[in-house]
Amino acid sequence: MNIVSVEAIPLRAELSAPFRFAHITRTVSSNVVVRLTTDEGLVGWGEACPVPQLTAETQRSIVEIVDERVAPVLLGADPLHRSEWAGRILSTSHAIDFTMAAVDTALLDIAAKSAGVPLSRHLGGYATDTVEVHGSVGWDADPATVARTAATAAERFRWLKLYAGRGSLEGDLRGIEAAREEVGEAHPFLLDVNGLWSVTDVARAADRLRRAGVRLVEQPVAPTDLPGNARATRILTDGNGIDVVADESVRRPQDVVRVAHAEAASVVNVGLSKLGGVSAALRTADVARAHGLGVLVGGVVELGIANAAGLHLAACVGATSGPAYLMGPLKYARQITAPVIAPVDSTLEVPRGPGLGVEIDEEALTALDARRH
Ligand SMILES: [Mg+2]
Repeated sequence: MNIVSVEAIPLRAELSAPFRFAHITRTVSSNVVVRLTTDEGLVGWGEACPVPQLTAETQRSIVEIVDERVAPVLLGADPLHRSEWAGRILSTSHAIDFTMAAVDTALLDIAAKSAGVPLSRHLGGYATDTVEVHGSVGWDADPATVARTAATAAERFRWLKLYAGRGSLEGDLRGIEAAREEVGEAHPFLLDVNGLWSVTDVARAADRLRRAGVRLVEQPVAPTDLPGNARATRILTDGNGIDVVADESVRRPQDVVRVAHAEAASVVNVGLSKLGGVSAALRTADVARAHGLGVLVGGVVELGIANAAGLHLAACVGATSGPAYLMGPLKYARQITAPVIAPVDSTLEVPRGPGLGVEIDEEALTALDARRH
């Protein structure tokens, strides 16, 4: 089996409502869909969802890299040897994680389809068919707005993810406390600070976070400051029973070793987009577990292709320290895959069809194609 065509389709995908976190306000997402076709008629799909805070990749650069550096490696190649091709692509290009996530996903989709099994089974995952996901409560300066958003999310999700670090410490804590008051005690909170607090902020916030039912704090201090994250981890875990998740500080499997040696987290977020695909995410999860760290499956609010890959990843990772960030498609105004994810009791089913197990809506792809705008 050989790959006969490599395409990169840039999308202009609008979100249903502006989504605020860190210093970002997202209204439109510049995702790129990668389509690989083989001489046996199998089609593999992948999705890149570039986030400027993580790499310098843009929609335009992803399309260009796929056309100029990925296609020459993959055209005529056997898609089942993906490690070989990933190595060759990475030997000419550095820090192209979102591009690689799309390429890895498309190659895996073909491999699992050619075996006639869902991706999680192809990778030898656990016999789980559901994944718990959390709701997401975008940041807002007004605590009442945070509380209202949390109440809506709490109708569908048990765990809620909130954001801090963008406003004043006091303002952000009031938002978290207002959300707690609004939703009651039955909804554990995960708080993503995106590295925007100082160690002193963490020390000031810790007691109120514990009392507000925050169970996990993601990237409390700047990702490059491992000693700072280590001090924050001691404050939050030892004193308050709150786990600390390394997110932006883990971009490669070897980053886990540095985080573990510095004791700069108790859990590692293994999002497939930031790590360059499911293959790299699984290696990262293995390294985390080998160092006694917990694992969380993250995301960057992707559409249905990357999200399906995330569900298969979560099925392969098995028990985690908290729910997965895999409800991204629900934030988009239009879907590119069917069926649309529909959480029941905060859980999603891992797709059961061959490969990624989702149908691509080609009409939607055409409608969202950025080249038409
Ligand atoms: Mg995060």
